[in-house]
Amino acid sequence: MSDVNANDLMSLCKRRGFIWPSFEIYGGVAGMYDYGPLGCSLRNNIVDVWRSIYKGREGFVEIDSETVNPREVFKASGHVDEFADLITYCKQCQAPFRADHLVKDFYENADVLTAKQLEEAFVEHGIKCPECGGELGPVEEFNLMFKTQIGPGSARVGYLRPETAQGIFVNFPNLYRYNREKMPLGVIQTGRSYRNEIAPRQGMIRMREFNQMEVELFVDPEDKDWPRFHEIENETLDLIPNTTCEPVTMTVKEAVEKGVIANRVLAYFVYTTKQLLTRVGIDPARLRFREHLQDEMAHYAADCWDAEVLLSYGWTEIVGIADRGCWDLSRHAEFSGADLTHFKRFDEPREMEVEKIRAKHKALGPTFKGKAKAIAAAMESLDPSAVRDGKLTVSVDGEDIELTDEYFEVAKVTEKVAGERVIPHVIEPSHGLDRIFYSVLEHAYSHDEKEDYTVLRLAPAVAPIKVGVFPLMEKDGLDDMARDIYAKVHSHRVEAYYDGSGTIGKRYARMDEVGTPWCITVDYDSLPGGAAEGTVTIRDRDTTEQKRIPVDRVAEIVDDLLAGKPFAEL
Ligand code: AMP
Repeated sequence: MSDVNANDLMSLCKRRGFIWPSFEIYGGVAGMYDYGPLGCSLRNNIVDVWRSIYKGREGFVEIDSETVNPREVFKASGHVDEFADLITYCKQCQAPFRADHLVKDFYENADVLTAKQLEEAFVEHGIKCPECGGELGPVEEFNLMFKTQIGPGSARVGYLRPETAQGIFVNFPNLYRYNREKMPLGVIQTGRSYRNEIAPRQGMIRMREFNQMEVELFVDPEDKDWPRFHEIENETLDLIPNTTCEPVTMTVKEAVEKGVIANRVLAYFVYTTKQLLTRVGIDPARLRFREHLQDEMAHYAADCWDAEVLLSYGWTEIVGIADRGCWDLSRHAEFSGADLTHFKRFDEPREMEVEKIRAKHKALGPTFKGKAKAIAAAMESLDPSAVRDGKLTVSVDGEDIELTDEYFEVAKVTEKVAGERVIPHVIEPSHGLDRIFYSVLEHAYSHDEKEDYTVLRLAPAVAPIKVGVFPLMEKDGLDDMARDIYAKVHSHRVEAYYDGSGTIGKRYARMDEVGTPWCITVDYDSLPGGAAEGTVTIRDRDTTEQKRIPVDRVAEIVDDLLAGKPFAEL
């Protein structure tokens, strides 16, 4: 566990406008939070870093899809039938509980227990209602999706999406066309997701409405490499493979060669996740990648890793990175009937055995007479997948004609073919934005008990305010000069904050508490005729070191600092 007190941190977040419990004047709702001004900036800055990696460096495209989806989407994805947690209600006070949470002290992985095993565990370990000590009722499934209706009446059932990913999968034909029918095809999306969590108790870790940043990379099933792999192959990862369940540090290359991570493209994006998380300020010493246990992994997944960070709640999953195989697109193809394949062109045409529809001319002639030839041609132009329940429907001269297999057969023939249709595999790094946001705050938080002084050591890239600008006194022209500097520095990209009230110490403290990396002070020496005319002091949050810099170079110097120039080299 980390030594950060989550309550102290949350109260700072509330006081300084990072996070507010939603609907507070009405008593609040568990698992729902609003982002205040500083929280909004911090969150947007995290999103920008994510975007700069995926869109900027890797060339992925971004989309924004609907949050309310028709039932069909989640029937295909499996969420309607399977996206449930096990719940039990106290027979006495009717309080609801996630059944696995009640027995988590007795099992390593309580969330894989069945309803029956959980009921038995309650008896075996004498588990009672944590609220009133009453008897617990039967364990049953509780679907986590919020249900709604689309349009008036109950004709069309809809659900609020429990993840953003499905919006990408159902748009595959559009995205594939947009990408000029090429693989790999990388797509990102950020937005709200909704899960009706049974008992959200861990602040921003378990929310009912939360933000995701999801990445879906569609790849050729036989090409699980990545062109930039060599750039990062010697970097290290802290891993917990499911074979040993022991922590081990190895290079990305070793992890693939030893079969610890299933393939190079998955390993590349595990490392990309580490890059993203450390860039936004997660402490690498409190970050690890844990492989899902066999009974935890989805049956279709080739491999799955969670980025876990050490928080006051213990090790917590903040990103999931999986090779999901062809599951998502196959399911949507099956349920929608749409073609969600990729045409994989061979380098050279190949002789291949393929299935073809062959017309039975001898049977067609006597029945269809003059039309037989046109029907035969129409049938043979179809793909064998058009055969449904042994029947085929063709359209000839505007007439639909249904044919049984008396009139055709599906035969195997050897042909020279230019390529084949394959269902792309999906590599998915799925980021919980609120969990990353909260982890960044915990890892940045430091509180000196003796001095009662708090500093948020946020990475400059994500800090909501980059520069505090203060006049020593709000008079004698110091304020005008400070306002000038503020106006020069403050822009869409570099957020500055002007503060003219209270002692300088108090103003530094206010900026340190919200993670502002640098503060600039205008004093009497700065003024025309002053001892250090035309210069101001700049103070570094983490070392509290101060330097004098020329006032006409302030904006440029802040840019250099943001680009990574060390303060000591100013
Ligand atoms: P999952 O689809 O369950 O693997 O979730 C993907 C990511 O979303 C996880 O790694 C979490 O970071 C995040 N997440 C899932 N459920 C919640 C929740 N209830 N509140 C906040 N973040 C969540």
